[in-house]
Amino acid sequence: MQEDKFFFEEPPRFRSILLFGPPGSGKGTLGKFLSSAGNHYHLSSGDIFRGLSPESPAGKVFHKYAGKGKLVPDEITIQIWHHFVGGLIATNSYFPHEQFLLLDGVPRTLKQAELIDPYIDLQQIIVLEMPNIEGLINRLKRRAMIERRLDDFDEDVLKTRMQVYQDETVKLLKHYPQEQISTFNADQTPLDVLRDVLVKLSYLLTHSRE
Ligand code: ADP
Repeated sequence: MQEDKFFFEEPPRFRSILLFGPPGSGKGTLGKFLSSAGNHYHLSSGDIFRGLSPESPAGKVFHKYAGKGKLVPDEITIQIWHHFVGGLIATNSYFPHEQFLLLDGVPRTLKQAELIDPYIDLQQIIVLEMPNIEGLINRLKRRAMIERRLDDFDEDVLKTRMQVYQDETVKLLKHYPQEQISTFNADQTPLDVLRDVLVKLSYLLTHSRE
């Protein structure tokens, strides 16, 4: 009897960098740069959800919650996320042995962090900090005007979203080893933020091949 048939390959853990930052802090811009110039895979949960066909079971769940401005329940979110990453690998869009996964928007709650832990091999957490809330609100309003994002016009709604982000992120960051967290001042031009990130993390970012 061949013994090796009892050995199973461990499912790969996705080597991941988590991006945190309040709405308008420039997470998307940073993620795009690191994915295009750095050859990592930038995955935003908002993009996953918005890309679901509204007719699909997952798409129906998303529209039910997002339509009311609510978060999708944690278990379903991580299930959809995991399924989506599997699809990216199957279609040769993301190469887990060569690229880091830059996760933007997930995990968003402590429960999601716990559920996602078995699937990821955490490399680093990047936190974009916006100490100047007024500046952030002005940025978002400008973006709302250009992109016609009506929900971002209302200052009270914006302030609530910031508060929700703040509360959740404080809890989330406590879940992770503090030495894996790097905080950057996002109240600068995108290039300045990028420079700071590269100065601190260029070694990691240029050594993603296994
Ligand atoms: P916003 O920053 O306006 O919330 P996102 O693009 O991050 O926009 O997400 C859009 C919608 O997708 C959210 O309102 C929510 O319904 C859903 N969503 C995105 N990420 C998550 C997540 N990690 N957990 C639960 N729901 C999520």
